[in-house]
Amino acid sequence: MTDVLTDALRRLDEVADLVEIDPEVIERLRYPKSSAQMAIPVRMDDGSLRVFEGYRVRYDDTRGPTKGGVRFHHDVDLNEVKALAFWMTMKCAVVDLPFGGGKGGVTCDPKDLSRLELERLSRGFVQALYDVLGPETDIPAPDVYTNPTVMGWMTDEYSSIERRHSPGTFTGKPVELGGSLGREDATGRGAYYCIKELERIEGWNPADTTVAVQGFGNAGQHIAGLLHDDDYRVVAVSDSRGGIYRPEGFDVPSLVQTKNDTRALRAVYCEGTVCELVEAEMITNGELLELDVDLLIPAALDGVITADNAGRVQATTIVEVANGPITSDADRTLAERGVTIVPDILANAGGVTVSYFEWVQNRSGLSWTLDEVHDRLAEVMRREFGAVHDLATELGVDLRRAAYAHALTRLGAAIASKGTQTWFRDEPNRPKRYVEGSTS
Ligand code: GLU
Repeated sequence: MTDVLTDALRRLDEVADLVEIDPEVIERLRYPKSSAQMAIPVRMDDGSLRVFEGYRVRYDDTRGPTKGGVRFHHDVDLNEVKALAFWMTMKCAVVDLPFGGGKGGVTCDPKDLSRLELERLSRGFVQALYDVLGPETDIPAPDVYTNPTVMGWMTDEYSSIERRHSPGTFTGKPVELGGSLGREDATGRGAYYCIKELERIEGWNPADTTVAVQGFGNAGQHIAGLLHDDDYRVVAVSDSRGGIYRPEGFDVPSLVQTKNDTRALRAVYCEGTVCELVEAEMITNGELLELDVDLLIPAALDGVITADNAGRVQATTIVEVANGPITSDADRTLAERGVTIVPDILANAGGVTVSYFEWVQNRSGLSWTLDEVHDRLAEVMRREFGAVHDLATELGVDLRRAAYAHALTRLGAAIASKGTQTWFRDEPNRPKRYVEGSTS
């Protein structure tokens, strides 16, 4: 199987001919700017020492400081973090944020760590990485199995080392520590605005539209909740242990309440604090992806739809809330069947967009209301979804290629404006004195 980074970079080749882009830009984007791998020693609760491996990749910072989450997961490795940092670079360009792309991770199983061990690990990550972090260099945020609490510990550690308050170095912080209102559900909400645009274009009736959501963490819970509020029929959800399926649909707020109270996913209906079990079929994560639904939302990890199972996916629309859930081979199979895919670099860009709002607020000393955040997020998502959709129609390509073409147009212009071979050879307005070697 192709590794995740090689597969991610294939998207560059797929669009290189679609837009006018200097070949040097594509060459430049094949390599991350810098990759750090570090040991994070942590004193465990029983007094023993454990060393964890951590990573931070700054992929490209042409358009601004590198930006992207930190994940705590047992499968994290440097190659995956590079792919995730590449996707962040494209994502920030798709929605026109003044950021480049980065990503971090620690190989660990956070569910096996106590709260205090998690805190020491989070602080250790900052100690190891201090030199590259900063509001003008590299700005982490939550990702898989990290959350506002982890960002709070990291911000505190960074500020302690700096010996001054430095809220703009991390986003996704608790609101009490300078986080933004509306950051918590921003990834799900951004995807929701994309779905509302599709609903309008395709003329969907929410009550007749069935939805399956893989992954019931932050993004999965929020997108399921927002769609349920709009009368969409959420018929299947899953977490890392498996899923539940009920053709009549679930009462999503009850699922969220039970999941957060008990950490288990149960088919329930709650009124107040009283929850009753309802009938539902237990399914695996693999089965969820193959259900006969209208809208499939992978909101967990990368590489879940591959050449092996793509032929069995029945959904007609897929909205990628996870990063990289569909491999490039699977993409081809799905395209042949006419499946509409809203790609991750657009569909899940709501999270980093509100991170940008948080960074702006931290640096300006302002705090925006929830309505202000929602309005600004809706404006960005609608504008960029529209631009990608129009470009797809104009070029006669799918939304993924259009989103990459859209991102590369912005990124390419920025990279090329620093000078390329073509510029030095052909640019009619180049300053002649440099070319001729004059110092006047
Ligand atoms: N982890 C999120 C993502 O993959 C958010 C990143 C951020 O806010 O910087 O887009």
